[in-house]
Amino acid sequence: MSVVANTAVATEIADLPKIPVMVPWLGEEEAEAAASAVRSGWVAQGPRVAEFERAFAAQVGAAHGVAVSSGTTALHLGLVVLGVGAGDEVVVPSLSFIATANVARYVGATPVFADIDEATGNLTPKTIEAALTPRTRAVILVHQGGVPADLEPIRELCRQRDVALLEDAACAAGSRYRGLPVGAGAQVAAWSFHPRKLLTTGEGGMVTTDDPEWATRMRRLREHGMNVSAADRHASAKPVLEAYLETGFNYRMTDIQAAVGLVQLTKLAATITERRELAARYQRELAGVPGLVPVADPGYGETNYQSFWVRLTEAFPVSRDELLDRLSEAGVSARRGIMAAHLEPAYADVQAPALPATEALSLNSLILPVFHGMTAGQQDRVLAVLKAAAGA
Ligand SMILES: *Cc1c(COP(=O)(O)O)cnc(C)c1O
Repeated sequence: MSVVANTAVATEIADLPKIPVMVPWLGEEEAEAAASAVRSGWVAQGPRVAEFERAFAAQVGAAHGVAVSSGTTALHLGLVVLGVGAGDEVVVPSLSFIATANVARYVGATPVFADIDEATGNLTPKTIEAALTPRTRAVILVHQGGVPADLEPIRELCRQRDVALLEDAACAAGSRYRGLPVGAGAQVAAWSFHPRKLLTTGEGGMVTTDDPEWATRMRRLREHGMNVSAADRHASAKPVLEAYLETGFNYRMTDIQAAVGLVQLTKLAATITERRELAARYQRELAGVPGLVPVADPGYGETNYQSFWVRLTEAFPVSRDELLDRLSEAGVSARRGIMAAHLEPAYADVQAPALPATEALSLNSLILPVFHGMTAGQQDRVLAVLKAAAGA
């Protein structure tokens, strides 16, 4: 029943003539939850945001959740509470959505690009170490496309070098590291609820942490630096005079978004199960195709397969861009691999060291469709193009 109703609402996207790369799994329940927030009269940050924060933080194994307006603003607040500012360096992967590097600049710091491991798309202790200098104040560790980074040795390295670790978990809701959810044990982790991610609130984000003081400060910072939230002020029987303790931002999430997020959270496990099945079928079918390397679980954890990419090696007879064209002609939306920020004009002035694995993965990979309700027939269409291009 719920699946039928859910498909009904998402139809406008799912019925596009082309097979999409991603469709948010939204349905009647989310529509009803949003409507009930509207009917309640409380549409700005309020009780539903507080409930969503508790539920999400519990799900990812963190003590506190602070809901914000996007994954980008979550990262920004993370850097602020970690004490990163002007003159500091922040080690980031170039291989990431550009917001990861941008937030270092938001606090006046300098992003320093580090290379990644080609199999996982993630920073490693070795690539981080090569980028550390006496000015390094923090590392932003991305769990790229949902693939967990190798947290234990990286946490150890950061501890030894007295460098803060901000986890960019924008893509990693429900991914696991050594049996624990990504988010557990993080100093600060930042999450995104953009529709490209597995759990969406339209726009939105969350910062999670085990540190109560950081959580309190981020709640303040997201609301103009006020010492008492608007929600608490309205709930109080007596007049409350607020004070502005520092220069904050308006990074609030609305209760309409949080209402949607609460429903989405109940579907996260099912979404991941479905995605992992689709990914396993791609992997089985492509195992014999020379020159194609699909992303896979690293030995130490499980990805949620938010992005399912394949890397083309030299053995593949067709270029990445040509393959994208052929997929498009066959009615399949695919995407180029994850971007490399150091190749973009916005970062032309940054002296990047050689980043061979970043460039190899970014330029030679593409992201294949995986979405709720994807049929075997649709997957066959994608596979047929890949196999034909391989000459198989
Ligand atoms: C999506 C994403 C972001 C930004 O999230 P928004 O909610 O779009 O601001 C940051 N980092 C990574 C790795 C992402 O995938």
